[in-house]
Amino acid sequence: MTANDAPPHRTTGITAVPTDGVTGMSASASALSGGVSGAAALEPLVRAVLDALAEGAARRGGPIPAGTPQELAARVARVFAEPGGEDALHRLTALVAAGSADPADPACAAHLHCPPLAVAVAADLAISALNPSQDSWDQAPATTALETLVLGELAAMAGYPSTAAGVLTSGGTESNLMGLMLARDRVLGRATGRRIEHHGLPASPPQARIFASAAAHFSVRRAAALLGLGEDAVVTVPVDRELRMKPEALAGVLRECVRRGELPMAVVATAGTTDTGAIDPLEACASLAAEHGAWCHVDAAYGGGALLSDRLAPLLAGLGRADSVSLDWHKLGWQPAAAGVFLVRQAESYASLARRAAYLNPADDEEAGYTSLLGLSLRTTRRPDAFKIAVTLGVLGRDGLGRLVDACHALARAGAAAVRAHPRLELHADPVLTAFLFRYVPADPARADRVNAGLRRRLLREARAVVGRTELPGEGPGRVRLKLTLLNPHTTAAEVERLVHLVAAAGQAEEEAP
Ligand SMILES: *Cc1c(COP(=O)(O)O)cnc(C)c1O
Repeated sequence: MTANDAPPHRTTGITAVPTDGVTGMSASASALSGGVSGAAALEPLVRAVLDALAEGAARRGGPIPAGTPQELAARVARVFAEPGGEDALHRLTALVAAGSADPADPACAAHLHCPPLAVAVAADLAISALNPSQDSWDQAPATTALETLVLGELAAMAGYPSTAAGVLTSGGTESNLMGLMLARDRVLGRATGRRIEHHGLPASPPQARIFASAAAHFSVRRAAALLGLGEDAVVTVPVDRELRMKPEALAGVLRECVRRGELPMAVVATAGTTDTGAIDPLEACASLAAEHGAWCHVDAAYGGGALLSDRLAPLLAGLGRADSVSLDWHKLGWQPAAAGVFLVRQAESYASLARRAAYLNPADDEEAGYTSLLGLSLRTTRRPDAFKIAVTLGVLGRDGLGRLVDACHALARAGAAAVRAHPRLELHADPVLTAFLFRYVPADPARADRVNAGLRRRLLREARAVVGRTELPGEGPGRVRLKLTLLNPHTTAAEVERLVHLVAAAGQAEEEAP
């Protein structure tokens, strides 16, 4: 649609009457996206979507929709209940665009929630239209080959040898589960002389332990539970003030584990904790894991982005020694979700996941060269999320992406400096990557947690800003912190400073509120 076109038509009841040829959706409502005619059917629909995105964003006019969650839910229910028809695509797209938290807005900086690159979104549209599925060669001939090439490039970036292998995942949660599953199968299998993946856990297995820092992602515990080990199998290793695992503490808990006759199964090091970007001592973690026959998994879901930057990559020294790694390109990689990556240093570690399904990867097909990726994933039907990464690497290259990482790092430093300069704000620690924690300090320090939690909701309610809220590890009051995660490289330092001042003003308003 051009700017001169009439506003999108509204349907009255079931029959939709298109106002012009361009939005002639009657014809295309049941059209399929494949082939040459499919592309033609898609064109007016894509235009309608782009139009609705702009309309919705203009209606929102800020980082998040104004009002209460109840008001928004009522608006969604109202539009959802409107009579159906051709215009549902436009109507619902405009609704969600108006009702979105927009990570491209400079005042939306709470989570590892990136504004995706337009070129990656366009690449993803191509994949939606073609709909390949990575579980068998005959559903994904080219994207099967492309995924392997992309993973080879990412493995080299991570410092892995050519024996590495991997797969695209839904994200860090699934990648962490895969790392710990392969760790369980190898370490527990070796200890019990039993193929865990075929026979399940023995009746009385040795107590397996997973070691992760107090700042590790919650998905590590969830994975332990899913793997039949129980959340209590995870031993929490203390962190220093900057929330990095203390290597001497890790050495201590590993010794204690062995002394009790338990099995050290895996050390999970975090390279870039979700809240602060803290990076555990990767070399020490790899050495201690190896000494104890444990698997070393590095959760670099966030910090893996540092690999793109010449300036920050040295922070991840030692990553290549890990048995497995999680990377999320839907964080510091500017991809639309999902773009998770799981890598193992040795392809043979994958043995326990291998599957033969007569209808997907019969042995004679594989021998004839029709190789499928089925045995690399926990999933069956699987979207080729490597494609948008391939396109992004092609367009921007590692250098182009590295500049985006560096820009966000510089924004975080500017934000931290603005916090440090403000008399009512307190910085927790300097940013390592692109995030930092801080808080508003009220006149009565006993009210700090309540005021900080309240000021964040106030900013949401007034649709002025989306800032994060978390808690430092430990017990007791005084641990609530605000968080800024800078992931929009086009934001300016002045905009980040403005956001910091907005937070301080909201803190004052909250403090004075009855
Ligand atoms: C985001 C994150 C995860 C979870 O990843 P998803 O992609 O959301 O599944 C795991 N670990 C860390 C350190 C993260 O930052």
